[in-house]
Amino acid sequence: MAYVYSHVVIVGIDGAGNFYKKTETPVIDRLFREGAGTDRCLTSLPSISAECWGSMLTGVPPEVHGLTNSIVEREPYVNKDHPTIFKLIRDARSEAVLASFSNWSPINTGIVEGGLDVDFDSGDDAELTERICSYIKDKKPVFLFVQLDNVDGAGHSYGYGSDKYLETLSRADGHLGKIRAAVEEAGIADDTLFIATADHGGLGQSHGGDSDEEKYVFFAAVGKTVPKGSVINLEVKDIPAIVARALGVKGAPNWNARLPEGLFTE
Ligand SMILES: [Zn+2]
Repeated sequence: MAYVYSHVVIVGIDGAGNFYKKTETPVIDRLFREGAGTDRCLTSLPSISAECWGSMLTGVPPEVHGLTNSIVEREPYVNKDHPTIFKLIRDARSEAVLASFSNWSPINTGIVEGGLDVDFDSGDDAELTERICSYIKDKKPVFLFVQLDNVDGAGHSYGYGSDKYLETLSRADGHLGKIRAAVEEAGIADDTLFIATADHGGLGQSHGGDSDEEKYVFFAAVGKTVPKGSVINLEVKDIPAIVARALGVKGAPNWNARLPEGLFTE
């Protein structure tokens, strides 16, 4: 029998790619030591936010989910053939506390389907993090998705990998640490699968292409059945299969998400 977690938390750092290796990120480093991961998790192409977050939440590539930045900014996602992991969890668990706290609000309004009784919040990374920490301790959500956006903003303004970008990434690592600490303070760390990752990286002051800097992102997952310090192979579109397996929820029959080999010992 596969071990079923009571909680899954995903913290996605927009535009972080695998640049953590170039700056101080003690929290990400600790997640890698305490769990399984890779710095070559392949994202979807084109390496653009809506396309990649869309794949992370639906388990299918952009040509299938059809999401683009301009679409998610103007209309809700309605696609019965390719639901998000939020919809799959809700269909299986009517009472589960689900939440999406995304600085880039189109994730809340244009990727997660409406009408699922998901708690939404949006705001600048630092203030949003404070509210996320209170929320975790207060509600102990079954599934919490977080998107931090300031790193991507710094990449567009100053260049991906620039000093200011890397400083912002270190700050995001601090936010990640606060969220991890809130999970521990809430007393749920033992049965939480905790994931940190990114939607894409960047090159120069943009992204969307297929260079290594744009298409590879870091991925780290910590949980009681995740082997410490092991390296796994996966793509961003595999992440909903991980969430489904962790929570004991059935995946979508026609998605392309696969459970990475070696992520769970049971
Ligand atoms: Zn993005």
